[in-house]
Amino acid sequence: MNVKVIAFDADDTLWVNEPYFRASEEAFCTLLSEFLPRHELERELLKTEIGNLNLYGYGIKGFILSMIETAMVATNNMISAKTIGEIMDLGKAMLNQPIELLDGVEEVLAELKGKYRLVVATKGDLLDQERKLKKSNLNGYFHHVEVMSEKDDANYLKLIKHLDIRPSELLMIGNSLKSDVLPVLNIGGYAIHVPYHITWAHEEIEHSIDSGMFRSVERIKDVLAFL
Ligand SMILES: [Mg+2]
Repeated sequence: MNVKVIAFDADDTLWVNEPYFRASEEAFCTLLSEFLPRHELERELLKTEIGNLNLYGYGIKGFILSMIETAMVATNNMISAKTIGEIMDLGKAMLNQPIELLDGVEEVLAELKGKYRLVVATKGDLLDQERKLKKSNLNGYFHHVEVMSEKDDANYLKLIKHLDIRPSELLMIGNSLKSDVLPVLNIGGYAIHVPYHITWAHEEIEHSIDSGMFRSVERIKDVLAFL
């Protein structure tokens, strides 16, 4: 490997994220439990979220709007303003969550800083991702932070162009095979998958990946063995 830049995904790679979505989803289902059973609400919410991605993008704000929309459908427009307020409060509580770094993250960044250019490559809401990075106190490790609307081939190509490197000089580390691994391999970069114990259904892929430029490790500290 002749890697110059190591890009890290943020949510569920550097810090805890998905569990907050799951907890809010659970609270949302409890709020509406008199109208629909949990599994139906969850299914409706996921469908609404995915349907809204093109309009709202990823992140908590879009999630709040999708919860409200799902509640309107689930209650046949009978949802009370009070319940809408409670749903909005669930979202605001998520936005105000403290940052909980994942095990080994600081150690890995400290070890790699100076040897490689380190960047963050994340998707989601710009303001929220910037706020989380600030709260994480990890800013000093990174040379550049890229917040993409979608983690696809085109946006990774834009990133390597911005960093002025060849695709094979990029290594991406992240928890999503769909967003952090596949597009990076597609453009000719290296990728290491560090799975997180829960993954949003939309990020799951069916097939396995077979590439000499791909590795999967159990925890983030294991990436040091390759670097
Ligand atoms: Mg992630």
